[in-house]
Amino acid sequence: MTDGGRHPLLPVAERWFDATEVGDGIYRITEPHVHAYVRSNAWLVRGSAAHLIVDTGLGVGKLADELAGLLDRPVIAVATHGHFDHFGGLGEFAERAAHPDDGDVIEAAGDYVTLRAATYPAALLDEFEAAGEPVPDLLVDALPAEGFDLARFRTPPVGITRWLADGDVIDLGDRSFSVLHAPGHSPGSICLWEAGSQTLVSGDVLVDGEPLLDQLPRSSPADFAASLRRLADVPVRTVYAGHGPAFGRQRAHEIIADYLARRA
Ligand SMILES: [Zn+2]
Ligand SMILES: [Zn+2]
Repeated sequence: MTDGGRHPLLPVAERWFDATEVGDGIYRITEPHVHAYVRSNAWLVRGSAAHLIVDTGLGVGKLADELAGLLDRPVIAVATHGHFDHFGGLGEFAERAAHPDDGDVIEAAGDYVTLRAATYPAALLDEFEAAGEPVPDLLVDALPAEGFDLARFRTPPVGITRWLADGDVIDLGDRSFSVLHAPGHSPGSICLWEAGSQTLVSGDVLVDGEPLLDQLPRSSPADFAASLRRLADVPVRTVYAGHGPAFGRQRAHEIIADYLARRA
């Protein structure tokens, strides 16, 4: 496989993203060719006046192009937080929103990632070690396009056009989401809450099937616990998380209770 960085054995993917409707005008978008450890969910919510994209993957494939058929209205793109596997494609959209407490990481080069082991940043290597995961040679098993330069890839830089604060409303016309600032995983982590449908888009604050990460360099376990206590009072019906499948209220309460019990 290794030949000084050219990886001629990697196939070119026909599509980079998988977009699956999960009901209620919401689509789960994943990157099947990205290593499972850094494969996140993006969520598309189609509204009557605007569409909302929550998180945008690694930035390897062209998200706006592949989703063009679904994006027939202005798009508001939101980053739930400043981790590279969630905001890589944010720069493809005209309206780019995030919480200012992660703004420095999103707008600066602090958390950029590469796709080859030889150039992984120390922070990513630390994460693999902390998770007990073997370090993969590559973070992808295909190329998004002919001629894509695996060796040169870095998370695309992005400027935020709209800063989000707790309580802000993102209006899509026939539906709207309010911002819940939920620090702990990172200082600027947010969730988006639609009261009408009892839908929570939770980023990495509330995730099923893997541990909640509160030991990363910018994490705060105390803040994380406070955020989860707050979410426990939100009357969720469905949670769309930053990783893994959607889940319901009972599972959400189990995850929160497990975390708080381990911390106690
Ligand atoms: Zn994260
Ligand atoms: Zn994540």
